[in-house]
Amino acid sequence: MAADAESPKDASAITRALNRAVLDALPFADTRDFDDARRGFVGSLPEVEIKNDAGRVVWTLRDYAFLAGAEAPPTVNPSLWRQARLNLSHGLFQVTDRIYQVRGFDISNMTLIEGDRGLIVIDPLISTEVARAGLDLYAQHRKWRPVTAVIYSHSHTDHYGGVRGVVDEGDVSAGRVEIWAPDRFMQEVVSEAVLAGTAMVRRAQFQFGATLPRGPRGQVDAGLGKVTSRGTVTLIPPTRIVREPFETHTIDGIEIVFQLTPEAEAPAEMHMFYPALGALNLAENATHNLHNIYPIRGAQVRDANAWAKYLNEARDRFATKSEVVFAQHHWPVWGNARLLDYLAKQRDTYKYLHDQTLRLINHGYRSAEIAERLALPKGLDNEWHVRGYYGTFSHNAKAIYQRYLGWYDANPANLNPLPPAARAKKTVAYMGGAEAVIAKARGDFAKGEYRWVADAMSQVVFAEPDNKAARDLAADAMEQMGYQAESATWRNAYLFGAQELRRGMTVPAAPARAGKDIVRGLSLDLFFDFLGVRLNGDKAEGKTIVVNWTFPDFGERYALTLQNCALTYLADRHAEAADATVTLDRATLNGIILRELSLPDAMADGTVRVEGNAQKLAELFGLLDEFTMAFDVIEPRKAR
Ligand SMILES: [Zn+2]
Repeated sequence: MAADAESPKDASAITRALNRAVLDALPFADTRDFDDARRGFVGSLPEVEIKNDAGRVVWTLRDYAFLAGAEAPPTVNPSLWRQARLNLSHGLFQVTDRIYQVRGFDISNMTLIEGDRGLIVIDPLISTEVARAGLDLYAQHRKWRPVTAVIYSHSHTDHYGGVRGVVDEGDVSAGRVEIWAPDRFMQEVVSEAVLAGTAMVRRAQFQFGATLPRGPRGQVDAGLGKVTSRGTVTLIPPTRIVREPFETHTIDGIEIVFQLTPEAEAPAEMHMFYPALGALNLAENATHNLHNIYPIRGAQVRDANAWAKYLNEARDRFATKSEVVFAQHHWPVWGNARLLDYLAKQRDTYKYLHDQTLRLINHGYRSAEIAERLALPKGLDNEWHVRGYYGTFSHNAKAIYQRYLGWYDANPANLNPLPPAARAKKTVAYMGGAEAVIAKARGDFAKGEYRWVADAMSQVVFAEPDNKAARDLAADAMEQMGYQAESATWRNAYLFGAQELRRGMTVPAAPARAGKDIVRGLSLDLFFDFLGVRLNGDKAEGKTIVVNWTFPDFGERYALTLQNCALTYLADRHAEAADATVTLDRATLNGIILRELSLPDAMADGTVRVEGNAQKLAELFGLLDEFTMAFDVIEPRKAR
């Protein structure tokens, strides 16, 4: 295949016309966001490019220089182009007295509050390298202050992963630095990263487009920020937990009122109001885009109704007394009247989305029909900050349907249809064969019916994965949809899909691995849950294995039973008739999970002691699968 044929193409005449029409439809003359994104600028690096110790670039804005011009190229939706340019703002910014933010050093912001003794760091970005660089930038322009506390606003990686870049764990264990987090933080961090982690990381390639080339025909933004940094991800468990719906604490001389917001943007999240500073931090529940009730990387569906309720409460209790509202992404909104208006519109957007989806559900509309029909009401449609750069009304409405009614639309024809490849083969055959379908689809492509062309060509690709004409036409259709998309995540998904259709998958086949700090944070329950997820049910057919586990350093015991191809466990128990009893300490278990130690070696050198039938333990571990990200998405799953 010639390199040329694999390269992204130009915008079609239809895409050009649609993108041009956006310029008339939206209030581009309203440039207050650009003023707000620059306001309080203190300083930045001459060029934002951050490397790790090995010299590998983990974060760079250099690749985004093509965004310099205000005019969008025809291959980018002008509304998204605007957001992509706003997200390019970088450096240290003063939000208000004592409050600073480092922006543009990762997809998220790091907020710094000057306390009486030192610095409170809120959300140390994704990786240690960028977090360290952000703190250095602060010290360079203000002065060096010791970090006295870290606050994790919520359980997503972009809000804690760089923590070891800003504090030393020794200072945390010695009590010199407190780490604050919302209730259930550790459980949510670890469970999201582990049980469905491999699939989510693979799917996130589509959502963020991190490995797509940057440029007018490639990745321009991720909606919430440019993209995710790719350095060292760490985690130090919190030492202070906010458990009540509202709690007030004074941290390094700063009074903070915490408001828990579980099940909104993250399962564990909290707002913060700083009464003496007249400032309100809404974590990630109010940002300058419509957020995701469901991110397309895959996740449990969030509660849009609770989301609106928390914003309403925060507005009522705190925003009325605030002069600035900000979040852990994007830029602040200043002025009491403006921020009250901003929060009312954010609140109403989530409430409208939730209630109107349910109204249509109760009128009998199906998921895709609701998604097609729902749009922002006219009064909100011209507000930049609720437009769908990250979430969209379409996929969020489908998510709300799923939250209440699940995947099934109640039409029995859809209860048990053939699986994708078998269904595609029959469909394509009924349509007169691949050649006939492709010929018709070319006609529709010329008419700009890209949604249908991508759908029809996907059927052909699932019927005949090697059909190059179908793959190319599917890629061409996805590409035009990517160029038209206002949502950065949709653009990334379409362009990444087009790239895989043209070039095939380029994903390392090595097993996906959890980070050291995540493994350390794994509860034993979750460890045994994950063993169950890895158990290969086919290989386990007919086997019964019972293993007792003893962790002397924590005084914990577990009884693990394999039976009927299912692995179950009871904590604080030993089975009477176990095949074997395994004794090991937690550090050894972590080493085995991280593959720093092999189980046979650990048994040989006595760090794992096995009484009874050691063969049975080896047999059990032989039944566990390894997961890799190398699975097909845009074509049938190949056995590897
Ligand atoms: Zn975030």
